[in-house]
Amino acid sequence: MSDYQGRIFCIGRNYLAHTKELNNAVPDEPVVFIKPMSCLNNNSDIIAYPAHGKQLQHEVEVVVEIGHAGRPDSVEEAGQFISGLTVGLDLTLRDVQNDLKNQGLPWEKAKAFDDSARIAPIVKYQNDINLDNILFSCSVNHHAQQTGNSNDMQTPILNLISYIGSIWSFIPGDLIFTGTPSGVSDLHSGDTISIMSSTFDIEQTFQIN
Ligand code: ZN
Repeated sequence: MSDYQGRIFCIGRNYLAHTKELNNAVPDEPVVFIKPMSCLNNNSDIIAYPAHGKQLQHEVEVVVEIGHAGRPDSVEEAGQFISGLTVGLDLTLRDVQNDLKNQGLPWEKAKAFDDSARIAPIVKYQNDINLDNILFSCSVNHHAQQTGNSNDMQTPILNLISYIGSIWSFIPGDLIFTGTPSGVSDLHSGDTISIMSSTFDIEQTFQIN
């Protein structure tokens, strides 16, 4: 369990190629769901396969850490709310999610189970980081599986912060998972998954149990 305060805001369908690979409609505005912060496990490199599903998938995403309370007044001011950046895994039980979607039910069982959020070490945000050119990827068993550039987001990072802030007041420690590029695939017991960003020079590896 996490020592962090706050919430985990997750953005769905923010990369066109991923939206299409799941045969989802392209949204007019950001799709937002929340994982409780208790989903974040940053104490273990083991990912325990959840017992209530059969299709665990990885979604590697750029993760924004919020360091400022309140709501930005504008997209320009949104940058002042960022304290750190990293990459993370929005772990998803796709079979459970598809069942829930087909029934029009909420996604929590598919998205917000224990340990469903993982992050690499957070890099302090400096203004010289170009938020619209963050390179990141993940590999499964040392094969490249997802490659992303934040430049391909449907809604860019500052606009996402502004949008979320138009609905929720931020709490320092809030995290934003900004959506996943195409290339999601199934994970199996015994797999090794690495998430990385060459922009931040970070890499973190997990074992599926
Ligand atoms: Zn996601």
